[in-house]
Amino acid sequence: MLKTVTINATVFSYYLICPRKAWLHHQGIRMEQESEDVALGRLLDETTYSRSEKHLDLYATAPDGTPLTGRIDRAVLRDGVLHETKKGRSCQAAHLSQVRFYLWLLKLNGVTGAGGVPFKGQIDYPALRRSEPVTLGPQQEEELALQLRHLTQLLEEPHPPARLTKREFCRKCAFEELCYG
Ligand code: SF4
Repeated sequence: MLKTVTINATVFSYYLICPRKAWLHHQGIRMEQESEDVALGRLLDETTYSRSEKHLDLYATAPDGTPLTGRIDRAVLRDGVLHETKKGRSCQAAHLSQVRFYLWLLKLNGVTGAGGVPFKGQIDYPALRRSEPVTLGPQQEEELALQLRHLTQLLEEPHPPARLTKREFCRKCAFEELCYG
């Protein structure tokens, strides 16, 4: 059965860092323009790979019927590699899950690289001059499905989840003033 709540990669990645942030964003609340950190991330994304491949928009339906969407930073199709650009490794677990979410979208669409080989992912940290490879296996797919189930339940709640008690994420979050101002 097709569900009504569409999950995009932005909400999913917010959920991985802070469920409250995902809920606020899903409600249509936007404060990104006030965050220097987010602006820096966008600048990095728009300038570092200006001669590289285009963004790739993806749509899929999860096994439980949830519509999914995502926009990949760059896809080097001939190499079968999706690239996601990040400026730091402080949320690396969330970054890994975000790229696996993209790989999942491709798999759900039956899209593979040359010779039927599944796509791989790569997180690029240009400021650190490093890259991190990402793959998607059955265990990670189960984890994504579980996270998706929790997220869709959370987004249907009438009230936002509690604020994070750890403030290190909050200092970089566009909603900091809303949560703690
Ligand atoms: S400020 Fe902190 S608690 Fe509030 S949405 Fe952002 S990360 Fe979550």
